[in-house]
Amino acid sequence: MKYIAKIMHANLTCRQVEEFLMDYLERRLGFWKTLQFRLHLLMCPDCSKYFQEYKNTIALGKTVFENPDDEAAGNVPDELLEAIIRATKSNKK
Ligand SMILES: [Zn+2]
Repeated sequence: MKYIAKIMHANLTCRQVEEFLMDYLERRLGFWKTLQFRLHLLMCPDCSKYFQEYKNTIALGKTVFENPDDEAAGNVPDELLEAIIRATKSNKK
């Protein structure tokens, strides 16, 4: 479970998520950043909402992202995210 510590140690701030939005959608983030990004979205309702709105805005203006959800989700398995969230919660006291 070493990788969980690594992820949590480098947890993104809301400001960073905002900065990474474009890179994420264009799939320029590496594996870890993508993982941290998605993890933050899952745990932060504000960023999650912002991200959805941002994505919708882009979808209206561009057709570059044909299957944004499928493509982006392909980088990081949902099972991994869920496992990390479970581990995070069980670590908190
Ligand atoms: Zn946030």
